[in-house]
Amino acid sequence: MSETRQIRSDAKSKAAFERAKRSIPGGVNSPVRAFKSVGLTPVVIERGHGSRITDIDGQSYIDYVLSWGPLIAGHAHPEVVEAIKRTAEKGTSFGAPTELETEMAELVCARVPSIEVVRMVNSGTEATMSAIRLARGYTGRSRILKFEGSYHGHADSLLIKAGSGVATLGLPDSPGVPESIASHTITVPYNDLASVKLAFERYGEEIAAVIVEPVAGNMGVVPPLPGFLQGLRDVTKQYDSLLIFDEVMTGFRVHLNCAQGLYGITPDLTCLGKVIGGGLPVGAYGGRRELMERMAPVGPIYQAGTLSGNPLAMSAGLATLKLLDESAYQRLERLAMRLQAGLASNAAEYGIAMTINRVGSMVCPFLTDKQVINFETAKQSNTERFRTLFGRMLDQGVNLPPSQFEGWFLSTAHSEDDIDETIAAHRTALGKF
Ligand code: PLP
Repeated sequence: MSETRQIRSDAKSKAAFERAKRSIPGGVNSPVRAFKSVGLTPVVIERGHGSRITDIDGQSYIDYVLSWGPLIAGHAHPEVVEAIKRTAEKGTSFGAPTELETEMAELVCARVPSIEVVRMVNSGTEATMSAIRLARGYTGRSRILKFEGSYHGHADSLLIKAGSGVATLGLPDSPGVPESIASHTITVPYNDLASVKLAFERYGEEIAAVIVEPVAGNMGVVPPLPGFLQGLRDVTKQYDSLLIFDEVMTGFRVHLNCAQGLYGITPDLTCLGKVIGGGLPVGAYGGRRELMERMAPVGPIYQAGTLSGNPLAMSAGLATLKLLDESAYQRLERLAMRLQAGLASNAAEYGIAMTINRVGSMVCPFLTDKQVINFETAKQSNTERFRTLFGRMLDQGVNLPPSQFEGWFLSTAHSEDDIDETIAAHRTALGKF
């Protein structure tokens, strides 16, 4: 099919993007959507169904972005849509308690090993920002430790990657983040326990928390090396710091019990988002009761939200989580393995350097033959070649994340045929190098 596809038209997308740029900064409400890193005009979407999206020029694509991860059951899943409709008919927001919020909290507490109590917010950024405030309020310390190349949302304390090297003190990644705030953030390479220990030897008594993506998903996909997460657990315990798992991406994506269930590590606090909102704006943070009840109204640490626990978001999230049983994860694993094997076989056939990292339905083919274990090694990928590959895949009806440093997501709505069509398109794309 990919060979016979007509030349892709982007006339309407181009016009729509030009119009958007007149009233929206850069034409987008989140920078990566602008396709800057691949040098193309973004595809403007008209609708999505199952594994596919359709652009306003009328072309359909197999989608591996899935709204950057939330749509684990695919676009417009009938049960999710029905749940949203049913709830909307009764009112969209009250700013008062509803039973839907409790139902969501009970489900999250039942499935996430470390969570006894959970607070809903509106985005992953709010979740990590609030968890950091709680960690600082609880410990009375101000420094935090994060990993280079990890993204935890755009809050001031977390928008810092710093240079490579051991325990580099943070420099802001963006104008507008005061150095005085950035200086509280210590950044070390992912999977580098020795650097973490050095940082603790130097600043241990001042570190409120380590925040980590248990599978790094914002430098491509980088799994934790054996012993890394346990090492973080041990060192944080030793210094009375908190361990925060940022599971905004991995939560209910890699396992029924999230990454902490997959790897058997219990953090103090967990941040969630994406999948638990089923495609509506959501975030959450939770942990032990003793910790979480330091938050207002029980405790003195403040955090609030007009739309937090929004009924539509709770309904979409609950409907999505109810679709996720063991068999759903087995299906995702089978599909992702099929994709990984096909991509690897294409690379071998054409002698293209490729290292495919995968955890469950998070897949990332790096264009390098080196092992990728942190941001430095991820950056060895041939990004020029990625740009070309991205365009060739798009032209053949496959929508990939428009950056080498993002994972591809699969949904339970993807079919074996979708995967095979993707592999065939990839083979065609690689064959032209
Ligand atoms: N944490 C992680 C691991 C993420 O991947 C993201 C977003 O991609 C966030 C936090 C921020 O979430 P949001 O974009 O909902 O604010």
